[in-house]
Amino acid sequence: MQAVRWPPATTRRYVSYSVASRRALPFSLNPFRASQERPDPGNILRLVIFGKPGAGKGTLTARLVKKYDILSLSTGDLLRQHIAERTEIGRQAEQIVAQGKLLPDDVMLEIVASKLDHLRNKHWILDGFPRTVPQGELLDAHLKKQATPLSLVVNLDVPDEVILSRISDRWVHLPSGRVYNLSYNPPKVEGFDDETGEPLTKRPDDNPEVFARRLTQFYASTSPLIAYYSRAAQTPTRLPRPPHRHQHPHQLTFPPAHTLLLKTVSGTTSDEIWPQLDALVRSAFPALRETATLLETRRRHSLSDAVCAAGLAASSGGDS
Ligand code: AMP
Repeated sequence: MQAVRWPPATTRRYVSYSVASRRALPFSLNPFRASQERPDPGNILRLVIFGKPGAGKGTLTARLVKKYDILSLSTGDLLRQHIAERTEIGRQAEQIVAQGKLLPDDVMLEIVASKLDHLRNKHWILDGFPRTVPQGELLDAHLKKQATPLSLVVNLDVPDEVILSRISDRWVHLPSGRVYNLSYNPPKVEGFDDETGEPLTKRPDDNPEVFARRLTQFYASTSPLIAYYSRAAQTPTRLPRPPHRHQHPHQLTFPPAHTLLLKTVSGTTSDEIWPQLDALVRSAFPALRETATLLETRRRHSLSDAVCAAGLAASSGGDS
């Protein structure tokens, strides 16, 4: 008689991901939360969240990632991680980041592309990339080759004076990228991260002088991306569909044309912008599932696996 394996497969999968291994992942690709099933490829969220430095990209991305089955990649967090770990890229980036300047486009694409290639059928958000029109073009060319084009660009519209007053109150937890603000989103214990209790730090580029430079940089290099994406949003593109395994080359079918969605959401705080962003993502991507629903489904599956396994164990015990 066949041996009964315990714990059942689904349970074992959860157990094998330790906290340490989750931390070791280069970005917030959290296998606990990423859906195991493939979403409909036509309705996958591939979002660029776009806005001035300090507009709340990180905060809003974190809320989306917490609520939905979405992965995120922040180039600022990645670079800070490289700097903290003193890697080759980190050494190259340290001065540039501290001065509020931008790293070369090709270096940035290399960092981002290697991560995105692992996320083909997942919902994802890019925070902090692209930051120049050439970066936007490089990203589009790369995604087009993979037949995984951007589906949504969100432009966060927050007034300059609001951002400037906010920045001196901003503190971050470097390892996780969690952001706090002493005036409207303070940590529970001043100076320490809510989840780990580790000390918070000030970003070296969050002082008024460097911040003013980053804002100038935004207007010069990054804001032209809005015109770039609004042109893209008016031009539907056809993407090559990789041939099916059993398909004759002459039977190639073409998927419907893909159109990028570009939306602007405005407000003075992330709390004001969040409901607009949430409603937008929900209506444009009905295939997105909430994390709470996913966890509940998994809990039910693992419970029914456990019941099945217990039943099998009881019947095999009776046979022997
Ligand atoms: P952020 O946390 O997104 O504000 O990024 C912090 C810093 O990292 C920026 O001020 C730049 O120096 C650098 N950086 C982040 N993303 C990019 C990018 N896409 N291109 C060039 N430099 C970047």
